[in-house]
Amino acid sequence: MGTAQRLSHASEQDKAHALHGQTDEEFRSRLQAFFATAGPGLRPRDPKGRVAWTRAWHAELYDRGYAGPSFPREVGGMDLSFSRQVIYQEETARAKVPGPLGSGVGIAAPTIVTYGTEEQRQTWVRAMLRGDEIWCQGFSEPDAGSDLPSLRTTARREGSGEDEVYVVNGQKVWTSSGPLADKLFCLVRTGTQESRQKGITYLVIDAHAPGVTIRSLKDLAGGSFFAEVFLDDVRVPVTDRIGEENEGWPLVRTSLGHERAAGAMNQAARYRRVLNELIALAQERGLVADPLVRDRLADFEIRVRLMRFNAERIIESILTKGEPGPTSSVSRLLLTSFEQDLHEFAVDMLGPDGLITKGSDYAIQRARWLTGFLTSRAATIGAGTAEIQRNTVAEQVLKLPRDPGMPLR
Ligand SMILES: Cc1cc2nc3c(=O)[nH]c(=O)nc-3n(C[C@H](O)[C@H](O)[C@H](O)COP(=O)(O)OP(=O)(O)OC[C@H]3O[C@@H](n4cnc5c(N)ncnc54)[C@H](O)[C@@H]3O)c2cc1C
Repeated sequence: MGTAQRLSHASEQDKAHALHGQTDEEFRSRLQAFFATAGPGLRPRDPKGRVAWTRAWHAELYDRGYAGPSFPREVGGMDLSFSRQVIYQEETARAKVPGPLGSGVGIAAPTIVTYGTEEQRQTWVRAMLRGDEIWCQGFSEPDAGSDLPSLRTTARREGSGEDEVYVVNGQKVWTSSGPLADKLFCLVRTGTQESRQKGITYLVIDAHAPGVTIRSLKDLAGGSFFAEVFLDDVRVPVTDRIGEENEGWPLVRTSLGHERAAGAMNQAARYRRVLNELIALAQERGLVADPLVRDRLADFEIRVRLMRFNAERIIESILTKGEPGPTSSVSRLLLTSFEQDLHEFAVDMLGPDGLITKGSDYAIQRARWLTGFLTSRAATIGAGTAEIQRNTVAEQVLKLPRDPGMPLR
């Protein structure tokens, strides 16, 4: 986006920022009115149309000053206080508007705000918030997942002065939204293989650059959400490095913290709504008289409330310490076990009807519970497996002895 365009949006953004002077309830009403009038409308069914629709919505949010509730205003965010962030997430979940595409806004952008140069903050964070660019995470490799410091993708320097580049070679895998990527935020090895976390650099790679090949991977539910990424002699300007060479590991910790925390409040609010919809379905099918069904629904009610309290702790930690901290692992564990249990229960509750797949006229609510059951299997692996999250909680929250095989996270 050009400077003139950015300036013309400034007055709209100021209007939204004027919301800061209002009471929380007035802020909520203004948000509700905004979503009701400017909302993106019905979600297109075809995947390409859905991407364009989501991008257009985020451009609208950004241009009107409603993007990036937790981001500083200097980079186009709203810089909301704690209570307003909670309200914002509750209202976006209620309005069922789409979240950002890719993992940029949730993971890379907060890392760039903390460690990037002013130019990187202005260019990259704004482009992500507006949906102009979709950023995806290139951390995992075929032989480096939980043990990220063993990663093998290399970057060696070539040239000098303004022409100086890193030449990158290697492979990344499980890149979420990879088929849509405009940019990849990657971890590469600039030190020796033995240097582990002391030889890792955080690099931003243009996904359309020569030498980058992105191949879709099919998931359990039949979607093509993931990709594997091959990097063959990809030339990356040295200025596209975040932080210093070989000093990427503290940035990884920031990124992983935000990844685990990503949208905790939004997810808590979303699952509040999803649970209400499941309760309504149980009522509609005359199942709430069953004490076993009531018992499970009560258990989910307790857990959805716990998720919200924990999300509040995370927002508070980000506001006071600048980082979500290890509480993000507690949040991730609560969320992922909740979504697996909820969908499994829903499919059980529906009996044979719960197994009817999406294409059938007899599918219950377009098979959303069955699809959720299948897709949520991966939840306890992504953003660090449940075992790794438990290690983090044990070591960093409960202060138990450290796993000797793992780097400090
Ligand atoms: C939905 C989803 C989205 C993802 N998105 C991305 C993405 O966008 N970008 C990206 O880079 N990666 C992504 N990943 C990859 C993800 O980060 C890795 O799958 C994850 O870190 C685990 O690595 P791995 O698959 O190599 O398993 P491994 O690390 O090989 O683990 C295998 C098993 O061993 C266990 N284990 C390993 N080490 C220990 C230990 N020290 N203590 C106890 N148990 C241990 C694990 O818990 C697991 O059960 C995604 C994965 C999923 C499922």
